Amino acid sequence: NADPRIPRIASSIRVIPNFPKPGVMFQDITTLLLDHKAFKDAIDMFVERYRDKGITVVAGIEARGFIFGGPIALAIGAKFVPMRKPNKLPGEVISEEYSLEYGTDRMEMHVGAVEPEDRALIIDDLIATGGTLCAAIRLLERVGADVVECACVIELPELKGREKLGDRPLFVLVEAA
Ligand code: AMP
Repeated sequence: NADPRIPRIASSIRVIPNFPKPGVMFQDITTLLLDHKAFKDAIDMFVERYRDKGITVVAGIEARGFIFGGPIALAIGAKFVPMRKPNKLPGEVISEEYSLEYGTDRMEMHVGAVEPEDRALIIDDLIATGGTLCAAIRLLERVGADVVECACVIELPELKGREKLGDRPLFVLVEAA
């Protein structure tokens, strides 16, 4: 990627080996948030890409997708919808199960937050196997929305999560090993 802002974004992400369990190389974006220029550049790059794409809803995935999704939604003039862990949302929800390395988890979205006419952008910090983004896609498509694109700060390409997304495009700022 030729954008001159990428190297600073990439180097601001800290990698912590064996967190939260042995063998995982945890990509820690909290150090990106400490570098105002890197954080702003990351938001700006998403905003530049999505400001003229007719996006009406930014769906942010709990928890780190909220950090990036909120500022992007404000800047492009879209509503923000949180995609949450089970039993956090107070209103009526629809939910989707997805598989983790061990067991399953569930993602929930408020009924009525997204409508069939909506054009959605899904935001998370990182795509690994793609299971999390797929659950978000299913929730949005169940209510009739059009998923225009998924966007993450980091992709782990070796896990081939991109292939799971079918024909929904994926945009990332940084690839990590
Ligand atoms: P997946 O569903 O396998 O694509 O996993 C993506 C979700 O798990 C995202 O919400 C990430 O925040 C988190 N995640 C998975 N692997 C990592 C990693 N190596 N470093 C940081 N977060 C991760």
